[in-house]
Amino acid sequence: MKSFSAEEVGLAVLGWPIKHSISPYLHNEALDELRRSDSRFNGWSYERLEVPAEELPFLLPQLAQNGYRGINLTIPHKVEVLPHLSEIDPEAEIMGAVNTLQWFEGGWKGYNTDGYGLQRALETVFDIELQNCSVLILGAGGAARAAAARCLAKGCTQVCITNRSADRLAALISDLRAHFPESDLRGFPLDDLPKQVLNISNLIVINATSLGLQPEDPPPIDLSFLKLGSETRIYDMIYNPPQTALLKDAKAEEMNRSNGLSMLVFQALRSLEIWSGREVSAEAMFEGAKKGMREIAL
Ligand code: NAP
Repeated sequence: MKSFSAEEVGLAVLGWPIKHSISPYLHNEALDELRRSDSRFNGWSYERLEVPAEELPFLLPQLAQNGYRGINLTIPHKVEVLPHLSEIDPEAEIMGAVNTLQWFEGGWKGYNTDGYGLQRALETVFDIELQNCSVLILGAGGAARAAAARCLAKGCTQVCITNRSADRLAALISDLRAHFPESDLRGFPLDDLPKQVLNISNLIVINATSLGLQPEDPPPIDLSFLKLGSETRIYDMIYNPPQTALLKDAKAEEMNRSNGLSMLVFQALRSLEIWSGREVSAEAMFEGAKKGMREIAL
C-alpha cells in the first residue's frame, strides 16, 4: 500500500486474486483524459491491491489514513464489506452488495455501479432502451442481483431469472418482490426453462453465471434447442475469454450478441464519476480496456 500527500488521491481495486484485473488500465486512461482539462487530477492514480478476505476490515481505515479516497471491490469482498461501511447507497442496499467505496470524513460509503454499467452497456451495444425490453437473467449471484434490481428499477416489461440452485433463486426472487411488488418478475429452474420464456418479444438474455469463465465450459442454456425469437439479443457478462460457448452459439444462430467488456467499462466509468464529481470519457475507458485485454492476452 502506498502513502499519498494531501494533494494526491489514491484509488485502488481490492480483490483476491487480483493480478488479472484490467481496471487500472481503464481508470488510468480516463484519469489521463481528465488531467488534460483539469490539473486537480495530476496527483490521482489507480492501482491493484491483493487483499485476502480476512484482512479487509483492518485495511479499510488504513487505506483512508494513507490517502486512498476511492476503492473498487471484487471477489471476495463485495458482500463481506457491508458491516464495515458508514453509509450505503439505496440502490446498493437493494442489491445487497457494493463494488465502489468513497471516503467521506469518518467513514466509507458503499455504492454498486454494476447495474448502471449493465444498463449503459445494453443500451450502447444493442441500441435499445432498457425500459422497452424484457430480460432473462441467467444466474442468481451478486452480478445477477445487481442486473435484476436495475432492470426492475428501470421498468423492464418482464424480468425472468433462472438459476441452477433453487434456494438461491427463491431468495433472490423474494428479496426483489419486497422492493418491486408491482413488477412482472418470474423465476425458473435452469434445467426446466419453459420454451415460451425464450419467445418473449424484445428479449435480452443476460448471462450472469460464472459458466464460461473457463474456455472448456459449456453454455448455460442451449440456444438452438430453445428456438429464441429473432429479436432476441444475447449479453454475456464474461469478457475474458472474449468469446464464450454461449456467444459462439449466438454467432452460429446469427443473433445480436456481446461480451461483458462494455459492462466493465461503464461500471468503472460510474465509479470514477462518483469519486471525481466529473463526467468521465467512455472512449478513454474503452481505449484502456483494449490495452488491458491486449496485456492479459500476452
Ligand atoms: P457469484 O455471486 O459467485 O454467482 C455465480 C452464479 O453462477 C450463480 O448463480 C451460480 O449458480 C452460477 N453458476 C456457477 N457455476 C455454474 C454452473 N456450472 N452451471 C450453472 N450455473 C453456475 O458470481 P458473480 O459475482 O455474480 O459473477 C457472475 C459472473 O458475472 C462472473 O462470470 C463474473 O465474471 C461476471 N461479472 C462481470 C462483470 C462485468 O463488469 N462484466 C461484473 C460483475 C460480474 P448457483 O447459485 O447454482 O451456484
